[in-house]
Amino acid sequence: MGKDVPQVAVFDTAFHQTMPAKAYMYALPYDYYTEDGVRRYGFHGTSHRYVSGRCAELMGKPIEELKLISCHMGNGSSICAIMNGKSVDTSMGFTPLVGLPMGTRVGELDPGAMQYVMNKHGLGIDEMLNILNKKSGVLGVSGVSSDFRDLESAADEGNERARLALDMFDYCVAKVVGSYAAAMNGVDAVIFTAGVGENAPTTRAGICQYLGYLGAELDEEANAKRGEDRCISKPDSKVQLWVIPTNEELVIARDTRDIVSAL
Ligand code: AMP
Repeated sequence: MGKDVPQVAVFDTAFHQTMPAKAYMYALPYDYYTEDGVRRYGFHGTSHRYVSGRCAELMGKPIEELKLISCHMGNGSSICAIMNGKSVDTSMGFTPLVGLPMGTRVGELDPGAMQYVMNKHGLGIDEMLNILNKKSGVLGVSGVSSDFRDLESAADEGNERARLALDMFDYCVAKVVGSYAAAMNGVDAVIFTAGVGENAPTTRAGICQYLGYLGAELDEEANAKRGEDRCISKPDSKVQLWVIPTNEELVIARDTRDIVSAL
């Protein structure tokens, strides 16, 4: 590669740099933040940014006037609260390990439980983190798979742990959505994206059953349909529900164009 070819890096954490300190700080001794940079960074920023922008476009409103909650649900999953086009909170943290239970990652966990398991089973920290990253989440609970398609088939055939893993996932997503509606003092639309969000109507329905108190009404028929960008809430739903396929490559390409053309 020629030495004059510009190199562009687009960080998946960049979109979350607008979070206020009250959202990104951990309640650890303050020096770990100032000396070591330990704080919530968040991930999937490129995806949350794309789907929130696209949602505003489809709603026909300026993003500066909207409160959106974006649920990126794939192998890795995270939720983002977007107010006036800016990320104000997100469920992943210093690393992508926390927040929701994922394909193989644990999500929320009491560090005390980790210490207990390590002591009881004589595990080192690397072994423990390998378990939390690669053997936990819906795979760990179900013992079946990290793939939601396999979990749905197994649950339909009566596998109770597969059912539990799916129920836990829906419940955790709904809890985070509720907490972000509280953080923003309201929400105009909830967006579903990524492998599970785009392709799993039963998971979307399972989550939406908890959102009635917000005034979000799922249109079952629209939810069952496949396709591109689509609204899946009833026409008079107070909170709109959207499925928007993510397009991280497009955001990276646009950023690269903007950065390079300004050089
Ligand atoms: P991603 O990380 O966004 O590529 O998402 C991959 C995950 O999406 C897979 O592991 C599956 O769990 C899920 N997925 C893909 N297609 C479907 C589908 N048709 N129904 C349910 N889940 C799906």
